[in-house]
Amino acid sequence: MKTLEIKDLYVSVGDTEILKGINLTIKSGELHALLGPNGHGKSTLLQSIMGNPKYTVTSGQILLDGEDVLAMDVDERARKGLFLAMQYPPEISGVTISDILKEAINQRRDTPVSLYKFIKELEDATKEVDLPLDIVHRFVNEGFSGGEKKRNEVLQMLLLKPDFALLDEIDSGLDVDALKAIGDAINKMRSNENALLVVSHYARLYELIAPTHVHVVVNGKIAISGDSEIITKIDTLGYEWLKDEYGIEITKEETKENKRPQILGQCRVKAKGTA
Ligand code: ADP
Ligand code: MG
Repeated sequence: MKTLEIKDLYVSVGDTEILKGINLTIKSGELHALLGPNGHGKSTLLQSIMGNPKYTVTSGQILLDGEDVLAMDVDERARKGLFLAMQYPPEISGVTISDILKEAINQRRDTPVSLYKFIKELEDATKEVDLPLDIVHRFVNEGFSGGEKKRNEVLQMLLLKPDFALLDEIDSGLDVDALKAIGDAINKMRSNENALLVVSHYARLYELIAPTHVHVVVNGKIAISGDSEIITKIDTLGYEWLKDEYGIEITKEETKENKRPQILGQCRVKAKGTA
């Protein structure tokens, strides 16, 4: 069993302090849901765990089985079993999905993966996330639809089999069928050997993947933790009840980001001919 521990983590972007003392422990076999209004630090937490240099850890610790994650480069974190599916996956021109995945898999092995085994796994995973097979020969995310980019993140996760998968709004912009495929893929990957930290606004995804723990991030801190009851409450009441019940003020000024609707449970209806 492995443990990822985040201890009193403070993170800044430029001069702005975003995370203000996050404490979170995730163990193999668990699935943690992370909710909270937009702009309050969810992506910042995931990016900091993975080591995006834009996010400066000013104090606190991140430990993987007691080892100091903050002392590791991003690629070392990946080799140690951390994986981030990004909210806004970048395009990588000139590198195909197949190339990048083979390289990433080999980085975690002593001997290179057999080509036969790799192609078989790639084919199976592509089907699972409902992407056309030939997409693996295209440059990463170049010209992909929003839905294809998200499925490609999950494809990578299925191939890399991380010990700790951090999924950032993997379901945003997906229609109900795609959401079901993603939920099924997550469930199939889940075992007692791995753990997930999943950011989503949608109760529907969480219904599919049944989190073992639920946390709400407000103003750079985990305001409350509990079980799926919290998700049901947010889905029906939004975040207002946090103030009434716990006296937690959502103080962040209204930015364009957090003016987006914060009601859960709405999933985009599949439009004809879109992914
Ligand atoms: P969430 O994922 O909860 O919506 P984020 O972690 O993305 O929130 O953002 C938290 C705050 O940090 C926001 O005010 C956002 O504008 C700011 N922020 C995050 N990333 C960056 C960045 N790369 N550059 C500048 N500001 C950022
Ligand atoms: Mg975010």
